Amino acid sequence: MRESWQQRFADTPDVLLSARRQRTVVPVLDFAVGGGSFITMAGPCSVETESQLLSTAHHVRRAGARILRGGAFKPRSSPYSFQGLGLEGLKLLARARQQTGLAIVTEVMSECDVPMVAEYADILQIGSRNMENDSLIAAAARSGRPLLLKRGLVATVADLLRAAQLAIDCGNPNVILCERGIRTFETALRNTFDAAAIALLKAASHLPVIADPSHASGNRDLVPALARIGVAAGADGMLVEVHPDPDHAWSDGEQSLSFAEFDAMMAALAPWIELRETEMQFCDAAELYPLEMVG
Ligand code: PEP
Ligand code: MN
Repeated sequence: MRESWQQRFADTPDVLLSARRQRTVVPVLDFAVGGGSFITMAGPCSVETESQLLSTAHHVRRAGARILRGGAFKPRSSPYSFQGLGLEGLKLLARARQQTGLAIVTEVMSECDVPMVAEYADILQIGSRNMENDSLIAAAARSGRPLLLKRGLVATVADLLRAAQLAIDCGNPNVILCERGIRTFETALRNTFDAAAIALLKAASHLPVIADPSHASGNRDLVPALARIGVAAGADGMLVEVHPDPDHAWSDGEQSLSFAEFDAMMAALAPWIELRETEMQFCDAAELYPLEMVG
């Protein structure tokens, strides 16, 4: 007998797909993640200035994004790098939402900041470096905002599901999983994009899954290809870094797309997204996966 996902991931029962468990659809403003539409979340790595953020927000919205990303609190490799604008950044994000209608996803790095970030953001991002920070995840979950849970740099799929289970245990069913690349022996790229994890998460879990081709590659030339792979693997959306002047970005410029590059990627992705949306609208779990696998 083949081992089922229920057996493989037995310690996280509430994140698993089953015949009795419908897929989670996460409501955000007037739309949803994990419903019938592929959702693009785009914006700069960090909120830098008003003109940087607002010009990006207007641009990505015109190109089809529904959610604006941008860090106001930044986890950085060096303590001397730009750490984010904090509250001022959150206020700029709120202004961008007001002007464009885009929802806001932004990272919360500390338990103490949860109430403040939750006041401004529509989705709280838990970054890779904090995927195993249980007290932060619990506090963020209890805020009631949907969570975007990024896979840790060295986290297995089971580890990611355990973090999601914790959020659900804290009373928050609105969890979005994100594959953003993991550390492997391969050092040619920033991370190794684990496309199989997207397919696996969609097969095993009822939670929406998104791809982050920016952090997965660390290289803007490869972002469109990785985005296409994410769509083809079954992602419900993507998180992409876009900047008006990537070469002068205050963080992650190497992997940020210019406006023109973002437009070109969105145009090239359109037929792939259309195929994926057809699948999202017409195939339920029982059709997509054999019954023995959905329990
Ligand atoms: C980010 O989204 O800018 C970020 C810091 O991502 P990660 O936590 O995946 O490194
Ligand atoms: Mn970044």
